[in-house]
Amino acid sequence: MTTGIPPLDILLAKGQHIFAFDFGRYMIAASLTFAIVALLRLTALKTRKIQAREATFADMRREFLQSLQSVFVYIIGACFLIWGKQTGVIYDPLGESFGLWTDLALLAAIIVAHDAYFYWAHRAMHHPRLFKTFHRAHHRSITPTPWAAYSFAVPEAAVMFLFVPIWQFFVPTPGWVLFTWLNFQIIRNAMGHAGFEFFPRWWLSTPLTRWINTTVHHDLHHNGSFNHNYGLYFTFWDKWMGTEHPKYRERFEEVARRQRKNSTPSEVPLTA
Ligand SMILES: [Zn+2]
Ligand SMILES: [Zn+2]
Repeated sequence: MTTGIPPLDILLAKGQHIFAFDFGRYMIAASLTFAIVALLRLTALKTRKIQAREATFADMRREFLQSLQSVFVYIIGACFLIWGKQTGVIYDPLGESFGLWTDLALLAAIIVAHDAYFYWAHRAMHHPRLFKTFHRAHHRSITPTPWAAYSFAVPEAAVMFLFVPIWQFFVPTPGWVLFTWLNFQIIRNAMGHAGFEFFPRWWLSTPLTRWINTTVHHDLHHNGSFNHNYGLYFTFWDKWMGTEHPKYRERFEEVARRQRKNSTPSEVPLTA
């Protein structure tokens, strides 16, 4: 075991590369999702805008600046992670593969584990003692946009980052698997805050897809009830723990089945 290059030196040597990687991922996912929603709202699908309220420019600027702040938290975390790998505390199989099927199983496992981590960390941050410090900043978005994907206070960004070293401490994971998961999570995150429902109207009617979260699911968490819909990718934990919004399906179907002629988004009373 070596002492490795100190994290501060890693920051000075690699900081701009880590910034490009983390901020670039956010910018690509958020701006593409934003552009796709803007284009779809020019078509007959405009009825799928979930809320009647429009996010203001000030909302988006706040979401963007808080996301930029989170990227700086991730950069500091990444320097410590690299240091941990150099010292051997975290085994790094970067560039290696365990074989395609093992790698794909690891990819599925990291997604399932991250979904569980997110549910419980998110739910904990809604505890009255933690909410103000950790999570209130994220919930300043009542009508979220894709720019909210990393819109966290510093303590919440640190909690979000911590999953990465915890996972890699226990599970050696090839670089391409981590890279694929990072892209998956930011795309799903941007979609969850898009304010626009992408999935077809039958999505919740079949066991093949109903366990995959829709945008309505997380939108209801921002503009419905803080006590429901804590999950990220899947509905499992909210169902098991009884925290799924009681009007989730009703709201989804209302959005997905809106008559295209009467295209104004309506508001189902959401107080649970
Ligand atoms: Zn929340
Ligand atoms: Zn959110």
